[in-house]
Amino acid sequence: MKGTMKAAVFKGIENIVVEELPIPQCPEDGILIKVHFCGICGGDIRNYSNGLRGGVKEQIMGHEISGEIVETGVNVTSWKVGERVALAPDVSCGKCWYCKRGLVNLCQEHKMLGTHFPGGYAQYIALPKEVMERGFVEKIPDEISYREAAFAEPVSGVVACHKRIGTSAGDTVVIIGDGPIGCVHIEVAHAFGAKAVILGRRKLARTAQFGPDLMVQNSNPESAVKEVLDFTEGIGADYVIVAAPNVEPQMQALKMVRKRGTVVIYGGAPKNACMAQLDSNLIHYNEITVTGSFSYPAVGLEDALYMIADKKISAEKYLNATVSLYDIADGIRKSKEGEAIKVLINPWLNEK
Ligand SMILES: [Zn+2]
Ligand SMILES: [Zn+2]
Repeated sequence: MKGTMKAAVFKGIENIVVEELPIPQCPEDGILIKVHFCGICGGDIRNYSNGLRGGVKEQIMGHEISGEIVETGVNVTSWKVGERVALAPDVSCGKCWYCKRGLVNLCQEHKMLGTHFPGGYAQYIALPKEVMERGFVEKIPDEISYREAAFAEPVSGVVACHKRIGTSAGDTVVIIGDGPIGCVHIEVAHAFGAKAVILGRRKLARTAQFGPDLMVQNSNPESAVKEVLDFTEGIGADYVIVAAPNVEPQMQALKMVRKRGTVVIYGGAPKNACMAQLDSNLIHYNEITVTGSFSYPAVGLEDALYMIADKKISAEKYLNATVSLYDIADGIRKSKEGEAIKVLINPWLNEK
């Protein structure tokens, strides 16, 4: 396809500029996609403030993408023009110790759309062979809109977390953190048959629409622990998911999980503030498992699209702000301040 497109290019910390660039060429073994929506991710917000991994500059950010195939490479037979697709960012190497064992989320050489490859804050994105083969490109089910499909990526990690830890009927899952991911944890825990308790602060009230079994104001950590213990008849929760970007709730989690229960560290903490003090006696005497959960396996995006199509995740409830490429900084502010749960970028807003 000839012509130019608008793209928001990351130039450096807190500096994104909309530029007119040539529409990327469709690779012989790849596809060209017209981007319909791209979500602003917590990771994008971190990158915006701290810089891209490896000091990458001059890159189009964004990786929660939905769009439509407008061109296919000469060697591509399995995809057709007009097909609706959802993308997720990770591209695994296919060769390392983890990839050989199918653990693509733990790949030692993994690359990302929006960092190593141009991302979705643009009107078009071209996917090369490497992304087609080792990344995430999924057809969007008919019952899902482009808007909802752009929300599948953040849902993928949450579904993968609950599948791996084995959340099931009768369990109580406590989620610490009232951001969009905390809200998704409520819905996924319910879909897996468990009860969901959410702890939050400033944005707690808005989590009510996702139907938690209990909402706990976490401004006083001690009384919040007591509320969880009361809810579980003094036993504690089966799982405590820490979906907050700081370490204090990690320490708190050990006090509200039951013996033999599991604490999952879901959100990363800032590099210079990631050291936590955990009461090792609680881990020892209560036989608590402390684990992490990061990204998702090869079926991750497909699982999330299924959950949205099946109405287990009420995607539209999250998507309460849409901005143009020119207003990304404002979109980031809206997410940070909780004015919107999830902000989408529509690269065609205010454009032809
Ligand atoms: Zn994301
Ligand atoms: Zn690998």
